[in-house]
Amino acid sequence: MKLDSYEKVVGGVAVSQLRQLATELAGARVVHVNSTRDGGGVAEILRWLVPLMNDLGLHASWEVIEGHSDFFNVTKAFHNGLQGNPVVLTQKMLDVYQETVVANADRLRPVLEEADFVIIHDPQPAFLIGLCPERKGRWVWRCHIDVSRPYRKVWRYLKSSISQYDASIFSMPDFAQRVDHPQFIIAPSIDPLSEKNRELPPPEIEAMAKQFGLSQDLPVITQVSRFDRFKDPIGVIQSFNMLNRSVEAQLVLAGGGASDDPEGAMVLEEVQAAAQGNDHIFVLMLPSDAHRIINALQRSSTIVIQKSLQEGFGLTVTEAMWKSKPVIGGNVGGIRLQVHNYHTGFLVDSPEGAALRLRELLQHPEACMRMGSTAREFVRLNFLLTRHLREYLTLMLALRCGVESHLLAV
Ligand code: UDP
Repeated sequence: MKLDSYEKVVGGVAVSQLRQLATELAGARVVHVNSTRDGGGVAEILRWLVPLMNDLGLHASWEVIEGHSDFFNVTKAFHNGLQGNPVVLTQKMLDVYQETVVANADRLRPVLEEADFVIIHDPQPAFLIGLCPERKGRWVWRCHIDVSRPYRKVWRYLKSSISQYDASIFSMPDFAQRVDHPQFIIAPSIDPLSEKNRELPPPEIEAMAKQFGLSQDLPVITQVSRFDRFKDPIGVIQSFNMLNRSVEAQLVLAGGGASDDPEGAMVLEEVQAAAQGNDHIFVLMLPSDAHRIINALQRSSTIVIQKSLQEGFGLTVTEAMWKSKPVIGGNVGGIRLQVHNYHTGFLVDSPEGAALRLRELLQHPEACMRMGSTAREFVRLNFLLTRHLREYLTLMLALRCGVESHLLAV
């Protein structure tokens, strides 16, 4: 999608402002590195961010680090540790991690060392910096994870790499860490014109609901997530079972795997076991490119739930709000930036709390409508890609000028 196409959503002035900022960065070589092209929020963002940076005259590219399952088992342990779980890190695991990143560095070094800006997403590729001694540009570590209370052993290990970066970016102030470089706060965003978020014809939404066997006569509550314990799918089923004692509804738990997440299959089995015997619960395992189906599922929902126990941001929340749905969200991390009690949905701390709020909303359809329309406007003002791009450009300009921007830094 070209940048000009977004004028109809965000207005001409926002697009013109981006072009103005980008003139200063014309030709700058920007390399993003993450650990998967499919699945999860980071891939979702890079899919639009890289083409739009190119459309603005920068030379942006997207590299993915490759590894075997033992590497992704270690990086999943990092992920779990950064989100606060005590995890075991053995020397053998660290060796696997470092050897894999060394192999990736051998492949990526020429492009990384020549780049003007390198944006490393999350812990998986963080170690690359120490392996690129001839680097010319500015290196930024972009953390998408809820690191409000990291498990210290994991943080201490990763910090030795992260402290080598010129700056880091977190999604909200609660995640800032003690490091000796500027830290920037940039919230993620969605692409309103992507397959995941664009308007869909109502017959397509109805056909999708029918295809999955959803009844048109009962409300639909949906959680879209990778099958990951931090997303608390079992807690969602518990809430639904409590709700179902008094209100009849349907629950959809839709998710797929991400190639850098080795725990998905195990969690999916737990979810299927918990849902067994309840024909009002639909557990849908979707392919990683099922963007239009997810779009239709979100649009066919009465309420969207995202009952995470830790959450960097929660693009699924943004996606649902953009579709004018009230969201019941776990009272954690970036969900708090988006869900505001009585305005865009409700924050909850337990399955009981979620059940209570679900019942309340289902009994008050006018409140669902009102919160849904507030939610959409809130996303339009705060969580669309043009705001996100503007903050990236501003950050790059600040770093290029060598300004440790105290206005932007925490
Ligand atoms: N997603 C998807 N298919 C799935 C599950 C999730 O396309 O089966 C998408 C979802 O729509 C959202 C992103 O992956 O765009 C998940 O981002 P989020 O920030 O909610 O969570 P993360 O997976 O990054 O922890």
